[in-house]
Amino acid sequence: MSYCIELERRYCAHNYEPLPVVLTRAEGVYAWDEHGKRYLDMMSAYSAVSLGHTHPRLLNALQEQARRLAVVSRAFYTDRLGPLAQRACELTGMDLALPMNSGAEAVETALKAARKWAYVVKGVPENRAEIIVCRGNFHGRTIAIVGFSSEPQYRSGFGPFPPGFVLVPYGDAEALQQAVTPYTAAFLVEPIQGEGGIITPPEGYLARCAEICRSRNVLLLCDEVQTGLGRTGKLLACQHERVLPDGLILGKALGGGLLPVSMFLARRAVMEVFEPGDHGSTFGGNPLACAVGLEALNVLVEERLPQRAAELGSYLLEKLRAIDSPVLRAVRGKGLLTGIEIDTRRASTRDLCVALLRQGILTKTRIIRFSALPRRSSSPASRSTGRWSASRACYPQVTESDGSSSANLLHGGIPPDWKPRRRGYYCNRASLPRRGNPVWLRPPPEGLTGSLGVLEKSMGIGLIDELG
Ligand code: PLP
Repeated sequence: MSYCIELERRYCAHNYEPLPVVLTRAEGVYAWDEHGKRYLDMMSAYSAVSLGHTHPRLLNALQEQARRLAVVSRAFYTDRLGPLAQRACELTGMDLALPMNSGAEAVETALKAARKWAYVVKGVPENRAEIIVCRGNFHGRTIAIVGFSSEPQYRSGFGPFPPGFVLVPYGDAEALQQAVTPYTAAFLVEPIQGEGGIITPPEGYLARCAEICRSRNVLLLCDEVQTGLGRTGKLLACQHERVLPDGLILGKALGGGLLPVSMFLARRAVMEVFEPGDHGSTFGGNPLACAVGLEALNVLVEERLPQRAAELGSYLLEKLRAIDSPVLRAVRGKGLLTGIEIDTRRASTRDLCVALLRQGILTKTRIIRFSALPRRSSSPASRSTGRWSASRACYPQVTESDGSSSANLLHGGIPPDWKPRRRGYYCNRASLPRRGNPVWLRPPPEGLTGSLGVLEKSMGIGLIDELG
């Protein structure tokens, strides 16, 4: 086992189960491991690297700003926050912006704004405000947010949770209508559920929800941390249905794949409930983050990445739908937020990810996500840096934790020095750490290899060659 893997396993909390690869550098759509093997990055850090790794313009912005002024806190004005907030508001149609760092923090900001708006503006009695959320949601990992998750693992062991959240089925506008009460402050929704499995709601859903919210004086809060900034073929996914929400949450790609940058944007009447001291963040809105965020927005627009995502996305969906494999259960998505669902009776998604890894493709767990990088080869940046011109990336991600063993198909089967131990598992001396569990290998179940072969070939090599 690689020393780096061993170190992580020994000294890091086991809240992730990484694939057995150690990445050491990346550029454009590719990443390289410690042995110099190149991979097509189809994870794109869950869409945080939508603009590609080490984009030259973003690197310039980062370096220039880091030399000038990086972090000073919001105790002072800077020459960077205003321009970012202005650009973000102009592009999204919102009035005011509140910068944060992670997506979850921006969601928490939205929840606080909605509650305070309910008390101060709508007149809901103190401590009675309700926020409606959807089953299958994913908005982050804080206590409040996991408290209204419908995924048992995200909640289990972390209660008690703050009250005031009501779950409704996703994609069912009439259920929203029924759930609204005089105490409802807001409806928080992802235009497409990303972590929930790339679930695209029925056409017209968001527009109908917006209508219901407007007629019942309820705020519509769109979480576009994952769907926003070009990923689905428009700058914002809610623009597919011409919806302008009352509050908008951005993150991930706003940091250009370099820094955590997130933002809650809203209509003036919503955001103005915040007074000095109500809310804040030491790092939120720091000049370094703002310089990168602003350049990320400029790159998105100038390189027409949303349009590119729309074009490549239709192509990708068509190709994925043409795959004839018993392992493939469904193909879903919009733009380059695209996923395939695996029949887990036939193949574990973990095994599939490891198989794709062997072919030089980085993806991970659950519904296999194809989040392509919508980069244009004709852009000025591409022309100026020849290496980028070929970077029309495709970033599939696999998301589905089916609880399968951690190292099933490690590097193509069982190495000769690994000995059978128990219930079909193998291990070797090096896999037995002084503390903790040994690393076990398991040979692929019979029949799996064949099915994977079909998938790997059509989904991996063939398709990627065409896109790349
Ligand atoms: N909201 C959505 C829709 C997300 O997909 C995520 C993360 O995947 C978050 C919020 C949380 O973002 P972060 O991990 O940056 O806290």
